[in-house]
Amino acid sequence: MRRAWKRVGIYLLIGLIVNVAIAWMIPTVLRGNWFNAKYDIEGQSWPVSVPADWPPAEYWSSMSAVGYDGVTAMANLDDLARTRRLDPSVVLYVATRHAYGLPFHAMTARQLQTQQGRSIREVDEGPFYRGFAVGLLHYPAPYRRIALFPLWPGCIANTLIYGLLAWLVVSAARRWRMARRRKSRLCPTCGYDYANLDVCPECGWSSQQPGSPA
Ligand SMILES: [Zn+2]
Repeated sequence: MRRAWKRVGIYLLIGLIVNVAIAWMIPTVLRGNWFNAKYDIEGQSWPVSVPADWPPAEYWSSMSAVGYDGVTAMANLDDLARTRRLDPSVVLYVATRHAYGLPFHAMTARQLQTQQGRSIREVDEGPFYRGFAVGLLHYPAPYRRIALFPLWPGCIANTLIYGLLAWLVVSAARRWRMARRRKSRLCPTCGYDYANLDVCPECGWSSQQPGSPA
C-alpha cells in the first residue's frame, strides 16, 4: 500500500514537472506571435494589483494563442499621444497579466511598466516580481518572461493529466516488455531464464496464478 502511494507521488511529480516545463516553454515558442489580439476591449480595472499611486486604467487589450492569455491595461495613453511621446511630464502606465499552460493555464506572471519620455521602466515591488524576466527587457516582451506563480485549478488539472499520461506510457512499456519476455521463456519480471520451472529462482515469480494450489 505504501509503495502504491509512493508510485502515485512519483507520477504526480513527473506530471508537475512536465506541466511547469511546458508553461515555461510557451513564451519562448510563441515569441510574441499571438493568434488573436483584441484592442479597445471593455474593462473595469487593472488586470493585476498595481501601486496605489497609479491612475485608474483607461485602455484594455487582450492577446491569446495556444497556451497563452494576456490582458493589458494602460493609463494616460491619450496624453502621451498628444505630447508625441517625448514629454517627460506625461507618464504612461502599463500593466499586463500573463497566463501560460497547456491544456489549461497553469502559471501566471504580471508585468508593470511605466514609460516617461523615451525611458521605459519595469516597476518592481519587493524582492520578487510576480514572474521574472530573462535577458533584456523591452516592451512588449512577454516571451522573455518566466511565470512563477501557479494558477491552482489549471496547475492541478495539468499535473493530473501529465501524471496519468506518464503512468500510461510506463505501464504500456512494462506490459510490452513482460509479454516479450514471456514469449522468449524468460521470467517476465526480472528477465532471468527460468528454464520452464514453475518459480523463477532469481526473483520468486511464479507461473501459477497467485492463490492457486502449487
Ligand atoms: Zn524472475
